[in-house]
Amino acid sequence: MPGEFDLIAKYFTRPAPHAVLGVGDDCALIAPTPGMELAISTDMLIAGRHFMPSDGPGTIGHKAMAVNLSDLAAMGARPRYALLSIALPEADEKFLRGFAGGFFGLAQKYGVEVIGGDTTRGGLLTLNVTVIGEVPPGQALRRDAAKAGDDIWVSGTLGDAAAALAHHQGRLRLETAQAVQCFPRLFVPAPRIELGLALRGIAHAAIDVSDGFAADLGHILERSDAGAEVWFDQLPLSEALAPLVNDPAAQDCILAGGDDYELVFTAPAEKREDIARIAAQLELRLSRVGRIQPEPGLRILNRGEPMPLARAGFDHFQS
Ligand code: ADP
Ligand code: MG
Repeated sequence: MPGEFDLIAKYFTRPAPHAVLGVGDDCALIAPTPGMELAISTDMLIAGRHFMPSDGPGTIGHKAMAVNLSDLAAMGARPRYALLSIALPEADEKFLRGFAGGFFGLAQKYGVEVIGGDTTRGGLLTLNVTVIGEVPPGQALRRDAAKAGDDIWVSGTLGDAAAALAHHQGRLRLETAQAVQCFPRLFVPAPRIELGLALRGIAHAAIDVSDGFAADLGHILERSDAGAEVWFDQLPLSEALAPLVNDPAAQDCILAGGDDYELVFTAPAEKREDIARIAAQLELRLSRVGRIQPEPGLRILNRGEPMPLARAGFDHFQS
């Protein structure tokens, strides 16, 4: 049976060429790029709550890194470093090999160096990742920066990850071809890092959709002391979800389903051409779906008619 230090050496120690000191000491040492602000975020994933223990180890590793990188994307920060704390019921090397493959695979894609963490035995597989990114002073895309009159934009498509989960749980019926499209959105989400970087100086506010479109847009509204009108019929849907747009279960996935990791952002109308250019450059759909208004509250319209919202999104203590 390998010990704690064997596991760290074998699975979690990788070169960190930009760090002053990586894994192996009491602390890592990093020298921030002069003049940059550090963007720091941490996210925890627990077996049975954020993923199923039966999910592929590689997808668990990917998701642990992806959800954290998504927070950096939502700030317009460039990812630099990560720390990984992991509680394992047992030293399952098959799991660790697969997990590390997914985790470091995505880290490498974005030049993220893993510089430390903690490894312990624990009853429930629990993962905590901390990421550190950099952003020029004043350019972070903050939740409190939306202005009345801003357009509201969303990247990619909404609801696919939630639809995959709903299908799995028997709440929504997808055809096989639709399910094949939706499941990767749940298991191997793509953090919108390039979009976050491109939106520096263009977007006012941004957030990533982790708990649900309405709930996450709601966070921008609350922090910005504003309200919004959103056009449900303009929300971007995948080929898989578009045919189900009138199904209440699908509508719930679109408006309140979590785990999309798309970016919702606001920008003044004079930036529409810049945003169209970014969409073309990144080959990423960017849809204008509403407008920030001075009156508080979120008003959802479907073809001009008010649309009631059963729930805004996921809340760990109310679901
Ligand atoms: P300490 O007891 O001083 O906290 P540890 O024995 O916990 O140190 O860890 C030894 C080294 O291995 C540290 O540099 C720590 O950051 C790193 N480390 C431990 N677990 C992980 C992990 N899962 N991923 C990356 N680095 C890790
Ligand atoms: Mg430790």
